[in-house]
Amino acid sequence: MTRTPLMAGNWKMNLNHVEATGLVQKLAWTLSDKRHDPARSEVVVLVPFTDIRTVQTLVEGDRLTLGYGAQDVSAHDSGAYTGEVSASMLAKLGCGYVAVGHSERRQYHAEDDALVGAKTRKALAAGITPIVCVGEGLEVRQAGEHVAHTLAQVAGALDGLDAGQVASLVIAYEPVWAIGTGEVATPEDAQEVCAAIRGWVREQHGDETADTVRVLYGGSVKGSNVVEIMAQTDVDGALVGGASLQVEDFSAIARFY
Ligand code: PEP
Repeated sequence: MTRTPLMAGNWKMNLNHVEATGLVQKLAWTLSDKRHDPARSEVVVLVPFTDIRTVQTLVEGDRLTLGYGAQDVSAHDSGAYTGEVSASMLAKLGCGYVAVGHSERRQYHAEDDALVGAKTRKALAAGITPIVCVGEGLEVRQAGEHVAHTLAQVAGALDGLDAGQVASLVIAYEPVWAIGTGEVATPEDAQEVCAAIRGWVREQHGDETADTVRVLYGGSVKGSNVVEIMAQTDVDGALVGGASLQVEDFSAIARFY
């Protein structure tokens, strides 16, 4: 089973509108200049809500081989949920992906597995691929409980989904202690937990689903360390924060092969 690697850039709450436009254009030019092959890695940017419409225009207008999406989605369809953005709103803007349960959402907005699961289901129902983020904090890692902790998050977020739904989504293992810290997990650390996630999927949903679902690693990935991380059997791509704001670095990540 071949899984196309996915390199997703999470811009977080960065860049003004002009900078966002420039970054998408420069990224597309650089990838085309370097003859990037989309069959060897799919490249996606997860942008602030306010940039989605512009990114859609750039991608569709110039037929860029770049996917895009959002960093969060509401667990509700519509109604009195001030400040929230629904999955159908994102789908109308052509979003192909949305991050759910990013550790910054879990930490600063008290998102738990049940809410992450509800968001995951809304994204799937709207035809958007959720990138379900999981991963342990430093204390859990030091206690040696990182695998159990991460699998409990996966089980919580994917609760009630069928095998086809699980096969179609993306799971991103992001140890919290490695996000934005420059502290990258070793390739073996990444492999250990990504393999455990795939093992859990195999147990729950069978071989075909486990061999299809894409499992990413995220946490201080850069052009300089992406190759060794991507060499791991169960790592199918990267969720990239800081480096996704740097055209050269993110292009190098996209062109890891
Ligand atoms: C992230 O935001 O998901 C992330 C992995 O950030 P960074 O690459 O900066 O560690």
